[in-house]
Amino acid sequence: MSATRIDGKAFAARLRERVGAHALNFAKVADRKPGLAVVLVGEDPASQVYVGAKGKACLAANMESFEHRLPADTSEAALLDLVHRLNRDETVDGILVQLPLPDSIDEQAVIAAIDPDKDVDGFHVINAGRLSVGQSGFVPCTPMGCMMLLTDRLGDLSGMEAVVVGRSNIVGKPMAQLLLDANATVTIAHSRTRDLADVVRRADIVVAAVGRPEMIRKDWLKDGATVIDVGINRLPPEPGREKGRLVGDVAFDEASEVAGAITPVPGGVGPMTIGVLLRNTVVAAYRHAGLEVPEGL
Ligand code: NDP
Repeated sequence: MSATRIDGKAFAARLRERVGAHALNFAKVADRKPGLAVVLVGEDPASQVYVGAKGKACLAANMESFEHRLPADTSEAALLDLVHRLNRDETVDGILVQLPLPDSIDEQAVIAAIDPDKDVDGFHVINAGRLSVGQSGFVPCTPMGCMMLLTDRLGDLSGMEAVVVGRSNIVGKPMAQLLLDANATVTIAHSRTRDLADVVRRADIVVAAVGRPEMIRKDWLKDGATVIDVGINRLPPEPGREKGRLVGDVAFDEASEVAGAITPVPGGVGPMTIGVLLRNTVVAAYRHAGLEVPEGL
């Protein structure tokens, strides 16, 4: 059997188009575009690439992008001051502070300072709490993107066995919560889980969010399982190459022999994250303007 390759890149492109159309409609009613403020502290090359990509994606989706690039020696007080200003700025609907922050700054304090109704990353404890009790708020973009791919592929998830490997606040925990809300039977596995392969083998749905290259092997998977690979790992470069290959947490080629469907890395979950970020920002804009969030956004 050869698994269906879940094309996150194509799905995300359709999502971005849909969001762009909603952003245009918003602009007609509200007389301004939905606005996302992205804050970057320091010169981390990967973060610079992410921030640049987010800005471009905003513009392509008929949204306003406000970039704030601050030097690495920015104080926590100065960053908090900027966040407070963005909270009050009527043209800003969503605020994203690119993580990781320099060690001198307390990440939790910065996230806590963001207005929860502009917290389009869904990292604020208020939004984590809303997700946990079933109130509408903002859900972290990566797990929400995974959920979109899963429901597109499987429809109703009721009663399915789902195993989430990884329990971080930004991926594993919200992912498990979303699956639970969709009536799956959810197990969260982590570094202390005993007999991890046996646990994963029970799953109709496997979500891998670990950060260990190709850890999940073919013989860990039940026949026909749907596998969502969140991991992004760079292997050491092969001789003569400058950069190593990007791989996920699942050994893609061999897993494809057993799985029913699987996301590749790259081109699976990764592209969904920005699509959902844009979607969350347009939702924030509608709420911020006191308008009803359109169906299907
Ligand atoms: P974290 O490092 O915060 O969490 C990793 C989790 O994996 C932890 O819960 C840890 O367990 C668990 N873990 C580590 N080793 C093992 C092991 N040997 N067996 C079982 N569980 C293990 O990572 P994130 O959640 O932030 O990210 C996970 C991966 O997803 C990374 O590769 C990251 O790059 C990628 N990612 C991709 C995104 C995208 O847009 N596609 C967005 C965000 C992340 P414990 O809690 O016990 O330590």
